Amino acid sequence: MTDRDFDTQDWQVRDRAHYLHPFTDHAGLRQTGSRIAAHAEGIHVWDTDGNRMIDGLSGLGCVNLGYGRRELVEAVAREMAELSYCPSFFRTSHRAAITLAETLTGLLPDHLNHVFFQSSGSEANETAMRLVRRFWDLEGRPEKRVIIARELAYHGSTHMAASLSGIPPMYGAGGDVPLPGVVHIRTPYRYRHGRDMDPAEFGVVAARWLEEKILEIGPDRVAAFVAEPAQSAGGAICPPETYWPEIQRICRKYDVLLVLDEVVMGFGRTGKWFGHRYYGIEPDLMQLGKGITSGYLPLSATVISDRVADVLIDKGGEWAHGYTYSGHPACCAVALENIRILTEERIVERAEAELVPAFAAGIRSFVDHPLIGDCRSVGLMGGLEIVRDKATGEAFPYEAHVGDHCSAEALKRGLALRANGDTMSLMPPLVTTPDQIAEIFAIAREAIDATARHFG
Ligand code: PLP
Repeated sequence: MTDRDFDTQDWQVRDRAHYLHPFTDHAGLRQTGSRIAAHAEGIHVWDTDGNRMIDGLSGLGCVNLGYGRRELVEAVAREMAELSYCPSFFRTSHRAAITLAETLTGLLPDHLNHVFFQSSGSEANETAMRLVRRFWDLEGRPEKRVIIARELAYHGSTHMAASLSGIPPMYGAGGDVPLPGVVHIRTPYRYRHGRDMDPAEFGVVAARWLEEKILEIGPDRVAAFVAEPAQSAGGAICPPETYWPEIQRICRKYDVLLVLDEVVMGFGRTGKWFGHRYYGIEPDLMQLGKGITSGYLPLSATVISDRVADVLIDKGGEWAHGYTYSGHPACCAVALENIRILTEERIVERAEAELVPAFAAGIRSFVDHPLIGDCRSVGLMGGLEIVRDKATGEAFPYEAHVGDHCSAEALKRGLALRANGDTMSLMPPLVTTPDQIAEIFAIAREAIDATARHFG
């Protein structure tokens, strides 16, 4: 199909009539209409009017390998032709799921040997949370139920995943979240919570917020701590290197399971294959999603340590939990092909060597910009935080929607980036070239300059 086959306005009318979009101000959308994506290749997406946009967000932090890789399409077609569906219930299994579970555990630390599949990151978090509570029940410690998560975190939109998320607007979105038994601590957001501190000192202080919360609740009641290695949706919040070792020490001391949401950080975002490798974390459970298939099909994995799996298997009997599409053959096949390409083409290693330094320099190049209060990045995830007063860090009022204004300016110029509040977030695909990195930052600068003029 070519772009000429589409009539944008017609699609917009039909879109408005029936399609309710996720995370969208529906009344606002009715006024503007949608951009209708038509096709995509590499790091570019074209709309039905033929406008080309650089995808500075990898879709939603998932299209790590870029768009349009034929090998992935063919892997799906092959598997679909062979085994279009297979449940993993009823003592049934199939080759793609077995191979993928084996491949994943081969990429992970020695104590992570078991994998449960779902279709989304939200479901991976649901599985992890049910498993945490199941584990403590089976251990004869059912009073260990409280889950500690972090402010500004995003872990998904199902009830428990939304509860783990520390984004207050989600609590008004229906469903009485947060559910009982979930509490939040501050996140290691140095610009807002410890700007005057040395990063190393701040990392320890921020980790001790967990210890304080555990002691306040009582260690016998705390089941798990859940966090991303670095926080993506909260606005690219990157912890100092002292943070995670201290978190690990605290979790071990109080026997609190460490549950790591690698849905965004996994598969190369930090410049290492996984966020736990970058920060040296040893989790008890780990959630993977998004980059596991580079977004070609929906799949997520909850990876389970021997400690937890042994209890589940040896003491557990039937665990009544699972999904129709747990381990869908085509999704597993595309994940395997994605991992094959990432490995054979050394995509993650090349991104770390050839792109991460340029990306970090691009982010840092805004350090003197009058509109930017903080510039931060890890690997190929970065955030530029817009402020009204650079000297004091004072933010613009929420109603100004300065971040949304800036992302609209970027989009006008052909770059998709994301406003997390007033932080402009970038997460380009791992296959972006150094020239394209330069182009991304040139457009980001124009958009931020235009925003500064508008609000100046
Ligand atoms: N965890 C993190 C860190 C995420 O960023 C997201 C989605 O953005 C999720 C979980 C939820 O994943 P999904 O949208 O696939 O349910």
